[in-house]
Amino acid sequence: MKKTALIIGAGPAGLTAALELLKKTEIKPIILEKTEHIGGISKTVNYKGNRMDIGPHRFFSKSDTIMEYWQNILEVVEPPDNYPKNKRWELDKDKVFLQRDRLTRIFYLRKFFDYPVSLNANTLKNLGLLRIIKIGFSYLKYRLFPVKNEKTLEDFFINRFGKVLYKTFFKDYTEKVWGRTCSELSAEWGAQRVKGLSVTKVITHFFKTVFSKKKKDIAQKNKETSLIDWFLYPKYGAGQIWETMADIIVDKGGEVKKMCEFNSLSINDTGKFCVGYYDTQNNENIKIDDIDYVFSTTSVKKLVNSMEKTPENVSQISQNLLHRDFITVGLLLKELSIKNKTKINTINQLIPDNWIYMQERDVKMGRILIFNNFSPFMVADENKVWLSVEYFCNVGDELWEMEEDEFKKMVISELEKIDIIKKEYVLDSTLIKMEDTYPVYFGAYENFDVIREYLDKIDNLFLIGRSGMHRYNNMDHSMLTAITAVQNIIENRKDKSNIWEVNTEKDYHEEK
Ligand SMILES: Cc1cc2nc3c(=O)[nH]c(=O)nc-3n(C[C@H](O)[C@H](O)[C@H](O)COP(=O)(O)OP(=O)(O)OC[C@H]3O[C@@H](n4cnc5c(N)ncnc54)[C@H](O)[C@@H]3O)c2cc1C
Repeated sequence: MKKTALIIGAGPAGLTAALELLKKTEIKPIILEKTEHIGGISKTVNYKGNRMDIGPHRFFSKSDTIMEYWQNILEVVEPPDNYPKNKRWELDKDKVFLQRDRLTRIFYLRKFFDYPVSLNANTLKNLGLLRIIKIGFSYLKYRLFPVKNEKTLEDFFINRFGKVLYKTFFKDYTEKVWGRTCSELSAEWGAQRVKGLSVTKVITHFFKTVFSKKKKDIAQKNKETSLIDWFLYPKYGAGQIWETMADIIVDKGGEVKKMCEFNSLSINDTGKFCVGYYDTQNNENIKIDDIDYVFSTTSVKKLVNSMEKTPENVSQISQNLLHRDFITVGLLLKELSIKNKTKINTINQLIPDNWIYMQERDVKMGRILIFNNFSPFMVADENKVWLSVEYFCNVGDELWEMEEDEFKKMVISELEKIDIIKKEYVLDSTLIKMEDTYPVYFGAYENFDVIREYLDKIDNLFLIGRSGMHRYNNMDHSMLTAITAVQNIIENRKDKSNIWEVNTEKDYHEEK
């Protein structure tokens, strides 16, 4: 009889595991997905013809395997030369990646700064001479006399950028994302996420940009991630590629069960799994026996809670693993108050940013995304501005509990306060809450190895992806963990350490 694999979650990792099984083995994949959407955190939500992602998703990878994987699903097309970023062009194909120029800036002191902060006339003008001198002295001071015994993220930043630059550009935004002060976060966290970025690199990048002619190289292998100038992006949003992949999986004989929430896992005497789930549409609890393999992308906490007879210490640690959560508000606008002052004429003089890091201290928002600039095909009417405003929070906190209307009002008034919109420009709005977006590397995480060791010993159970491994994995890493797990099945390799090795060497992250 054909073997079966049960996959929890139809995000990038779960879908990749299913497709790999169908392409390379005789094992039939069944995916359980608790929501009505495909793509997990990388999904795209369609609101009245306007499509929005959960945070900015760039498609680039330093892995050739992943770049090829993506390009086998969607074909890459380039926009016409010097074309306004937010204007559609004749493009009769739908299953395509658009090649996009990246522009992200920091908004601070009601002005735009380059991201990552770079050395140029604009930065100098915006900061003013006095602040620049202070930044320079403080940088030199900490290069010569670094904080000894670097323990906290604050120490990490100060040793690399100096105290003044740290306070200007890193402190507030990092604290908004993590809901903790930088002195409460570990330096190790910084080493993982800001690795490779330094003042020296910023200066080198400046000279390279000035003196070298830009050549399009899709992989951009020699670049530090936050300096990537380019990315691929599906015509209809990040989720388009995952929806296309789900269709391929079903065509090849796999199953994708939406609105089915996994809730129990047990192992019988023969080592096969019995998996339980709740079918929300039909209001019933269902159990499937005789499952040969399980791939999990649900949170480690949820997985452990769903298992029988878990050792006390494993349950306790998993219970205390934390995530940061996320609220994003889509706003449809007539126009923005701030206008594009560059030579290229955009519709509505829309600023060319893909997203903007909000460093201003007097607002709670973390980022603004302008979807017109990701793909003009994501917006129902290209003459309107379609953006989202993001807030980092924790389930149950003040932001999470706020009434939807009240939240939207707060977003609009924050945008007005920093002169980005006028209230009367707002035409429509929608709000999305998303749990478990950022696995947190503090608290119980320091004992994570206890959980890993216990779960890794269960033959044919594979933890993959981002929440599935409680790892800061990007889409490409999440896919690579799935590819590696399937390869282990093919090679009958019991040791799972190669799955955990993904994203330990070549790490590059979505968000600094
Ligand atoms: C703001 C933000 C920006 C990002 N930007 C980028 C970027 O630019 N580039 C990049 O490469 N990556 C980016 N990422 C990371 C990317 O989103 C993730 O790496 C990727 O989505 C992880 O895939 P996954 O399949 O492991 O998990 P997820 O995407 O979390 O998918 C898991 C799926 O499992 C389902 N599920 C969970 N529990 C259950 C259950 N009990 N039963 C059934 N189904 C369940 C969920 O509903 C979900 O659909 C970003 C992430 C965030 C938060």
